[in-house]
Amino acid sequence: MGGTSLGQLMAHPTDEPLEGDTNSAVAKELVRVNRALLTLSAGNRTLLRASNEQELLHDMCRVIVETGGYRMACVAYAEHDEPKSIRWMVCDGMETELLETFHFTWADTEFGRSATGTAIRTGEPVVGRHILTDPAMAGSVYVRLREQAILKGFAAATAFPLRVEGEVLGALVMTAVEPDAFNAQEVKLLQEMADDLAYGIANLRTRVQHRAAQATIARLAYYDALTGLPNRTLLLEQLEEAMQAAKQQHRSLALLHLEVGRFHEINKVLGYRAGDELLQELGRRLTGAVQDKETLARVGEAEFALLLPTGGAEYAIQVAQGLVNTLREPVMVSGLTLDARVGIGIALFPGHASDADALIRRANAAMHQTKPVRGGYAMYTGGQEQENTRRLALMGDLHRAIEHNELRLYCQPKVAIASRRVCGAEALVRWQHPQHGMVSTAEFIQLAEQAGTITPLTNWMLDAAFSQSYAWQEAGLARALAVNLSAHDLYDPGLIDRIRGLFSTWGLDPALIQFELTESALMADPTVALETLSRLKQLEVELFVDDYGTGYSSLSYLQKLPVDGVKIDQSFVMPMVGSADSTVIVRSTIELGHNLGLKVVAEGVESQAIWERLAGLGCDVAQGYLLSKPMPAEQFQGWESQWAQQSG
Ligand code: C2E
Ligand code: CA
Ligand code: CA
Repeated sequence: MGGTSLGQLMAHPTDEPLEGDTNSAVAKELVRVNRALLTLSAGNRTLLRASNEQELLHDMCRVIVETGGYRMACVAYAEHDEPKSIRWMVCDGMETELLETFHFTWADTEFGRSATGTAIRTGEPVVGRHILTDPAMAGSVYVRLREQAILKGFAAATAFPLRVEGEVLGALVMTAVEPDAFNAQEVKLLQEMADDLAYGIANLRTRVQHRAAQATIARLAYYDALTGLPNRTLLLEQLEEAMQAAKQQHRSLALLHLEVGRFHEINKVLGYRAGDELLQELGRRLTGAVQDKETLARVGEAEFALLLPTGGAEYAIQVAQGLVNTLREPVMVSGLTLDARVGIGIALFPGHASDADALIRRANAAMHQTKPVRGGYAMYTGGQEQENTRRLALMGDLHRAIEHNELRLYCQPKVAIASRRVCGAEALVRWQHPQHGMVSTAEFIQLAEQAGTITPLTNWMLDAAFSQSYAWQEAGLARALAVNLSAHDLYDPGLIDRIRGLFSTWGLDPALIQFELTESALMADPTVALETLSRLKQLEVELFVDDYGTGYSSLSYLQKLPVDGVKIDQSFVMPMVGSADSTVIVRSTIELGHNLGLKVVAEGVESQAIWERLAGLGCDVAQGYLLSKPMPAEQFQGWESQWAQQSG
């Protein structure tokens, strides 16, 4: 404004001097309107420039004082508290701290008679209030305001309500030197300015809301709601950036893929809430274990990924070992202590892949090499991906395998420990693939279970077991043959009738067929398990809980099921000689099992030392490589006569 304020203009009118009272009144009037107009346009520019609310208020008041030549300009907001207080947001010409000490309100009381309070309360402009002479402000409440008016040289005050979306938010207040300041036209323009200010405030607030909304959207798009961790999308973006940076600086980086083992089982048995809690707790632990620059993300239901933007194989392995240790501590969920078994796969850039997608796939492939039950970590080695493709292809082949009779029935003997007598055998399937050769049983059973295609395999196995048992019976060898059932089989509505039909077909004694059901299958849906087991039991067959100790059940829960025995999982039996923990578990399972009237079978008996230890603990039956590996069913008789001679 050329450095000349309108206030100064007013004090020293320059243009042709106008004569007489009327003329000077017109001149004054003109100057005032002009002053208001200039203020309005300067105000508009402020409005366009301001990037936040406080800045807008501050600049607007400065414009009013500097450009408009008013003594002071302030913005007050109405508080919606008990005394209806006034909050002085900004003030040019007086300190807001001082204004606060006046304790003005917008309530209909003595303290609410100021121009500001009245404008807020009534929603109407209060124009040209004479501070020193207005009877409404004659009381003691306004003594200090009057003192200030004299001190700072202002006589009249005008306040405009600030309306945002129909509500009075506060007031824009200004004071002038002359008691007769603020004529009609000037007021009209100032009113317009107050409205613009209110509009500007509303506008900025909408912008803030938009920004917050955008931030929320970004958070939803990039972060996982359950754990608050970055999601797959964000990880992928960061991985791409990190790979680019690594490439330029000739550095390596690593990606770790973590999967929580048996998460579905936990969800099914304990409920989704518990599953969520488990993931949150694991997320917290993992977060605590990673460094600042490393990105931990949740990339799947029970899958996490960790990006190490620098470092090679050695560092990645060190981190993986650290994570395995961190997660070794059991997790308390819904009052239960769970072992979180996490498998970690490691893939390195540039060694294992040159693009982000492939690196993620390879870390994932490596993860699948870890043991689902015991967890641990594995580094990507070429071929794991082909391995995955091969596994998928295998699944497609399984149907054909059953039709083309590529499956074989193998048997592994069970021996009563005290008498050394053979008391039966477990029926185990083998798959002789025309191209791939012998396919790992554990692997394809797991695949078939995951794919939900176990039923045809179970049916094949039942047929094979019944006809084998009949063959043995014909040969004068009555041996119980135990068939494994999967979780899925428990839901098969045709299972019981099929078994009943087989008993009729072959005319077998129920004592010759047994069933093994894994603990985890029984826990997956206890109600269905109880129902199916009860119906199986009506056929008078013996039932065993398989892999006991690896699930989350207690023996007392199993007591409610109509089972005849438990098979202690080999992971407890095998380390018995070296590990006191395992011995404790095996011993207490045997004791508790016997108390509940259950037979106890130990699987994975590989050495004489373990056999003797089990004998000492009173275990009933042993199964394992010490006796024999699983063998083709037709070799069983031969093995048995050999065993009988040995034990002679
Ligand atoms: P499982 O029921 O726990 O069977 C025992 C597994 O442990 C067998 O592996 C057996 O070869 C192995 N094993 C036995 N003794 C020893 C030992 O002393 N040391 C070691 N290291 N291993 C021993 P396999 O035959 O590979 O079977 C793996 C799993 O596949 C079985 O575990 C069972 O859950 C499942 N499975 C096998 N056949 C069938 C079937 O016909 N139907 C169903 N549903 N599952 C089956
Ligand atoms: Ca079994
Ligand atoms: Ca087992």
